[in-house]
Formats: sequence, C-alpha cells, structure tokens
Amino acid sequence: MSSARATFRRVWQKGLWKLGFRSLTPDRPSTLMVEPTNACNLRCPACPTGAGTLNRPPRAMTLAEFRGILDQALDPPGYLRQVTLFNYGEPFLCRDLLAMVRLCAGRGVRTFTSTNGHFFTSDAVADEIVASGLTELVVCLDGADQETIGRYRRNASFEEIVAGLRRLLGARARAGGRGPRVELQFIVMKHNERQTEAMRRLAGELGVDRFILKTVGIRAGGPSFQRLAEELLPADLSQSRYERRKDGAFALRGDPPRGCEYILSTLVVNSNGDAVPCCYDVDSDFVMGNLFRESLESVWRGERFQEFRRRVRKGRDLPAMCRHCPEGRGTIRKVGAAGGGRSTGAWEGRTHSDRSG
Ligand code: SF4
Repeated sequence: MSSARATFRRVWQKGLWKLGFRSLTPDRPSTLMVEPTNACNLRCPACPTGAGTLNRPPRAMTLAEFRGILDQALDPPGYLRQVTLFNYGEPFLCRDLLAMVRLCAGRGVRTFTSTNGHFFTSDAVADEIVASGLTELVVCLDGADQETIGRYRRNASFEEIVAGLRRLLGARARAGGRGPRVELQFIVMKHNERQTEAMRRLAGELGVDRFILKTVGIRAGGPSFQRLAEELLPADLSQSRYERRKDGAFALRGDPPRGCEYILSTLVVNSNGDAVPCCYDVDSDFVMGNLFRESLESVWRGERFQEFRRRVRKGRDLPAMCRHCPEGRGTIRKVGAAGGGRSTGAWEGRTHSDRSG
C-alpha cells in the first residue's frame, strides 16, 4: 500500500472511530510504546520497578530487536507517528536508546522519552542526545532540594539532575536551539506539595520549555493502594486523582471515560518483546503475543487483542486495570509555562505512561 493511501485509510478509520464506529481496528498503531529497559537506578515506592514488585527480570531491548518491530510498524507506512521510549524502567540505562531514537528520526517518526535525569553526565553525552533527533524529553524532578526529592525518589541526586539539565540545555543552545523539547515534570505528593511554585520558578530559571504538574498514580485496587495513598497523597486532594469516600477509603475521582481510544491507537511492547494492551497492564496479565517471535500484524489484529477490545468496548467483565483506569477523568497532568507569575492550565485527563517514577 502506498504511503498516501495508508494515510488516507488511517484518517478515514480515525474519523469512523470518532463517529462512533468503535469496533474498527486501524491497520497499524499510530503510537508504539516501547520499553527500552525495565531496570532503574532509583527506588521510587509507588513504581513497581522501584518497589521491586515488577514480575519481569531486568532486561534491555537490543537495537536489532527494536528495528524488527519498527520495520513492521512502518509497513504499510502512514500509520505510525510516534515511538514512546519508556514504560517501567529508566530508558537511559539502555545502551541502544539513542540509536533507537536515531533510527526513528531517520524514518520521520517522532520520539518521546522520560527520564529521572541522572544520565546527562558530560557535554559529550548532552551533545549526542541533542544530535540524536529526539523530539521530546521529560525530566522528572519532584523537589526543590535534596531532602525533598530524596524522600520519594530514593537514590536520586538533586544536584546531578539540575547540573545535567543545565548541560543538556547548554548543548541544545550550542546546536542552535535544535534538539528535544524539554519538559520538567513534578509529581505532586504530600511531602512536596508546597514546592510547586518554587519548582516552576526553577524550571523557568533553567530554561526548560514546559513545566508539568502530574498527580501521583498509585495502582488502584492493588494490595498496597490504601497504605500508599495515605503516605503519598497531598493534603490538597484537588492536586490528586483520588478522593476520600465516606468510609475513609481513597478512590479515583471523576467520571470514567466512555470507550478506550488507547487500545486502538497504541501498542505497548515491553523489553522482553511481550505486547500488552496498555501501560497500566503492570503485571503483563494480558500478553497479546511476543514481537520477537510473532509478527506485529498477527498480534495487533489477532483474536486475543480483538477479544480484549470487544470486552472493553462492551464495558462488561472489565479487567481490574480498566475498572481503575484514570485516563479521561481530567485528573492526570497540568501543563504550564515554566517560570514565575504565569498560571498553569487545567488538569488534563491523558498521559503517555503512568509509572510514578
Ligand atoms: S486501563 Fe484504561 S487505557 Fe488501559 S486498556 Fe483499560 S480502559 Fe484502556
């Protein structure tokens, strides 16, 4: 199929979806979410990797494995728009990360990744990141000093993150402003909720492009949910995605969305090649196939995935992750300008991935 024909089919399929034809599956995903590695250098307690509860051994994807997936997602062309390079792990621990980015950039696919910010260790590394063609980079920093950041992001170094950000933004300026859009992300929790304005000022002083407030995501329905909610949620629950019910327990606030666009647009591939329907499938309960052994076409449009889509569409017998899904409730993140004195926007309902680390 030619690129123009594939693009037409994609737009047509999306239009039909918007008109309510929710049973149509596009020929290919428009976003691939690939996990370069599921290892991490930090120990954030609400993140399954950091808490040590992720049920997969640490593994990094190789460039050859990634290329095999990308090739298939681009055939036919016209569907794939973005590759999101993270899920449960620190992507910069994957030695092939920037080669993956370069491969995508060379094929006209935008890339997006998110990091805890400890890997911009020299000017040479920063120059390489800028030159890779990376489209968008989120750096997570949820504290205006070492004491605050270290309370949640165990093993994190405030000094290293800030120095690395300065290095990266310096490299971008040297390259004439070309390079990734850089966003500073602050997850609002009990111990840091008073620092949001200080962080917004720091974001402005550093010169990042956007400052993002994100509500902390705790695996609702998980065994530690109520304990972690007590420990982590800010006193101002309007800065969170949960509310306290009359019986004192926490629950998601907002109305659940109608339908799920995610499973028709995005394919999530873990570092071991397993394709799962969604980044909220933390325990890989719904493995749709393995892209190191099966074709993308047979997984994306295979009966297992189609049955899962039917189940979500009908809203009957929903899996726990969908019953506790925070997407579309307008409570996940707030995007604003960096710097002082400018107001941030409204809470938005969608995120790219919801690891809280
Ligand atoms: S958890 Fe939410 S985003 Fe994921 S498949 Fe279920 S409804 Fe869709």
